[in-house]
Amino acid sequence: MQRETIGNGAKILLTLGFLLAPAMPADANDAPKKLAFEVVDRNAQQMTDVSDALFYFGELGMQEFESTKLLNDTLTAAGFKVELGGAGMPTNLWAEYGSGRPKIAIVTEIDALPGGSQTPGTYERKPLVANGPGHMEGHNTHGGVASMAAFAVKEVMRRHNIPGTVAISFGPAEEQLASRPYLVRAGMFKDVDAIILLHIRDTLATGFGVQNYAAISSVFTFYGKTAHGATNPWDGKDAVDAIELMDIGFDKLREHLRPTYRAHRTITVGGIQPNIIPDKGQIWWFVRDASMPAAKETYDKLLKIAEGAALMTGTTWDVKYAASAWPQLVNKAIAEAVQKNIELVGVPQWSEQEQQFAKDFQKAAEKPVVGLRTAPVPLGGRTQAASSNDNGDVTWVVPAGSVNFPSSVPGIEYHEWKAAVTPVSSISHKGQVAGAKVLAASIIDLLTTPELLQKARAEFEVESKKTPYFSLVPPDAKPDIDLNRAEMEKYRAELTKFYLRKTPRFN
Ligand SMILES: [Zn+2]
Repeated sequence: MQRETIGNGAKILLTLGFLLAPAMPADANDAPKKLAFEVVDRNAQQMTDVSDALFYFGELGMQEFESTKLLNDTLTAAGFKVELGGAGMPTNLWAEYGSGRPKIAIVTEIDALPGGSQTPGTYERKPLVANGPGHMEGHNTHGGVASMAAFAVKEVMRRHNIPGTVAISFGPAEEQLASRPYLVRAGMFKDVDAIILLHIRDTLATGFGVQNYAAISSVFTFYGKTAHGATNPWDGKDAVDAIELMDIGFDKLREHLRPTYRAHRTITVGGIQPNIIPDKGQIWWFVRDASMPAAKETYDKLLKIAEGAALMTGTTWDVKYAASAWPQLVNKAIAEAVQKNIELVGVPQWSEQEQQFAKDFQKAAEKPVVGLRTAPVPLGGRTQAASSNDNGDVTWVVPAGSVNFPSSVPGIEYHEWKAAVTPVSSISHKGQVAGAKVLAASIIDLLTTPELLQKARAEFEVESKKTPYFSLVPPDAKPDIDLNRAEMEKYRAELTKFYLRKTPRFN
């Protein structure tokens, strides 16, 4: 029930409504939220210690061992039940407090990116470890914010005797879209009533509708027959020719695809030297579109093109599913509740020094010199992004909200070393405090306002049925837990020197 919808003469109803639902969305005098905010303020240092520690681990997807160890320790000490290794992935972490329904889960990720190592605070290129991995998307901040918010909710549940469960799902390898479809397949969200997707951004915001793109990632391998390129090329079957023909075939197809599509590839095995006819060639494709059925349609055509390329070259081929992601379907009812909390919490008070740093950084990066944002983003009007996040899969099986918090500098794009300059700065820290408060308040709303959950569920039933969910994961596929292992092991010893070795404890 929302106050502004109550007409004249509804005073009694209003009072009754208040009694029935003590945590009406976004009320500054609301005791549970007030307590949650106090808990966050009191533990701000512990929260950012978690996030900062994760930054220096700089761990790639599926190799988040130090990161999940710290989160496991921190959350266990904070009274959470923690499970590592769910859905067959050693670094998949699920933590929860409470029991039964409603069950609300934060869904986020903590992985870094290859080549992202950078010395924080300096916007000249200066890696901590040459060529090493690092947090150039600030996923490290998700660890602190999610843990903090869940702990604040736990304290509120205890003090106010609120039934239900608060959970956190830290899924591995978001940057390779490699885990969430497996979490869904394993049924990890079966008894969850709603989720909130958590992600760093340069502003405090939420949204609704379909937020980003569907993606399918597959590796195609062709097998031919080797021969000398000069003496008996007629005996050879060139697997790299098949790759080139696949490329040409797809380029012919491009004209006939929806304007919304995206497709990109990289050749991962392209032969050895010119006078050896290659018997192996490999090409890795990403196919995307605004919806999964549209992406799948293009992907099925790509399979036909591979078949054609093999026919033309007399080679054989196979295809290995690598990853996939549905677009995020975000619930409007939850977004409206989150937006009220965003307005309640507000954007952090930036110091003059922080604003100046942001402007100098923007200038050095040749971006518009706008400084840090001083107001939250109004609800609605965000266009569908062409990027993907595999947490999208979860949003088609359970109603989802989203929270973005202001811990990076506007104009500094992720997936570039520059975005690793600020994840441990005071800008990031203040943004995390705001994010944890909005997240905690929104989970409290979902736990204590049955009509909000009902409204979200009703909307979800309509919206999700417009595109019934199907999994792209082949039935016999297993998560690639060796992903990034070799790359990570190259740098781990050197990274160890920078570890913060902190033991944050929430209280
Ligand atoms: Zn991300």
